Amino acid sequence: LSPVHVIGGGLAGSEAAWQLAEAGVPVVLHEMRPLRRTDAHQTDHLAELVCSNSFRSDDAEYNAVGVLHAELRQAGSLIFRAADAHQVPAGGALAVDRDGFSAAVTEAIAAHPLITLERGEVTGLPPADWQDVIIATGPLTSAPLAEAIRALTGEESLAFFDAIAPIVHKDSINFEIAWFQSRYNKEGPGGTGSDYINCPLNKEEYEAFLAAVLAGDKTDFKEWEKDTPYFDGCLPIEVMAARGPETLRFGPMKPVGLDDPRTGRWPYAVVQLRQDNKLGTLYNIVGFQTKLKYAEQARVFRMIPGLENAEFARLGGLHRNTFLNSPRVLDGQLRLKADPRLRFAGQVTGVEGYVESTAIGLLAGRFLAAEKLGRPVLPPPPTTALGALLTHITGGANAETFQPMNINFGLFADLPADPNVKKQPKGRERKAAFARRALADCAAWLGARNAA
Ligand code: FAD
Repeated sequence: LSPVHVIGGGLAGSEAAWQLAEAGVPVVLHEMRPLRRTDAHQTDHLAELVCSNSFRSDDAEYNAVGVLHAELRQAGSLIFRAADAHQVPAGGALAVDRDGFSAAVTEAIAAHPLITLERGEVTGLPPADWQDVIIATGPLTSAPLAEAIRALTGEESLAFFDAIAPIVHKDSINFEIAWFQSRYNKEGPGGTGSDYINCPLNKEEYEAFLAAVLAGDKTDFKEWEKDTPYFDGCLPIEVMAARGPETLRFGPMKPVGLDDPRTGRWPYAVVQLRQDNKLGTLYNIVGFQTKLKYAEQARVFRMIPGLENAEFARLGGLHRNTFLNSPRVLDGQLRLKADPRLRFAGQVTGVEGYVESTAIGLLAGRFLAAEKLGRPVLPPPPTTALGALLTHITGGANAETFQPMNINFGLFADLPADPNVKKQPKGRERKAAFARRALADCAAWLGARNAA
């Protein structure tokens, strides 16, 4: 078998290399550190954790990221084997001794007879004689490779800045106040004239909201992010708010063409939410990227009438991040449609977080191993956390508004209504039902793969 070239020895690349090698496929893993550093990594270890030492909640009964942990363990993840072996006390979270953890991953990779670790930067598209490639170079992909990927995929398909508008679970929006309508009832492509959810503000509410945005605690840019200029059209709301009291009302909070059904008139200002996934369970707040701290965002955004009980699938942000518009450019097996020899994995595919990056690394490795060994490539079902995440980035998310995403139950295929019960499960019970189904379906998927 010819070797697979995995570029990037971070969380995703190390996991992908491990999955391939464990399946019997030889791998060359290319890692540029320590010869060339990123602005965030400090060591020459593989799978270095660049910031927090936490993999977030380990609760597989009620928490979506905990379910993803459990599925990764079921699937024989190297990252989770090392994390479990180097755990430190952190309540319900899985946190690790960062040095012990990444040293363990580095040692396991170095000791695997089918993996060759090559230190060196890949400075452009992989040479033609690399038949199978996984690119897992992360949010800080080095510039020459990022430019080459951008040239191949097109301007619109590789972002360097992550302008994240907060995403809300639709079932937490108060529709006694909010209503569905597109501006002037205009039908967009495939739209119905009622594509947006609108939340109205009167003058007092708008002024109070503006004051809260301006006063709210903000996160600072990292030193190396400061040189990256804001793009037009993705200014943080607090920057717009600081330009003058009317800027937001003439920008993302413009009320024209929107008739509040309770008054029959245009409100003073409006906050609009746009559908974020095919299932229609998640909506993003249009134009609301921000550097407000997370706790402040939850407090300030719940001041918006209709969002007083909003549950956030993710909060807003703005930081350096290299990621593909995966729903547009990748197929369901993480291959580049324009050049299927190239697969992508990790944060560069538009997932967000250590666990999610690991998950996509595991899938890319397993898909390619199956292909190399002439076995059927079976994707995980969308009822599992692995499948929900994969489905989201490779087709479920809206390509027009695509922004990196954490795992959450809003991405899971909905639960079928049970005709035998009067009240369908809600809240915690519903989460538990998602979790139970995911773990059972993941075990079945892994069983089917082993049998194939
Ligand atoms: P990485 O772990 O970054 O691995 C990519 C690897 O590719 C690196 O080792 C890099 O050196 C190498 N590489 C890059 N270009 C090349 C090239 N051309 N040739 C060869 N090698 C190359 N997520 C969380 O869950 N919690 C956090 O606290 C957190 N903090 C973050 C802080 C920062 C500053 C950033 C940028 C991201 C953070 N993330 C966090 C998001 C994300 O989960 C991590 O970046 C995660 O490490 C992504 O995993 P990955 O494998 O995709 O990329």
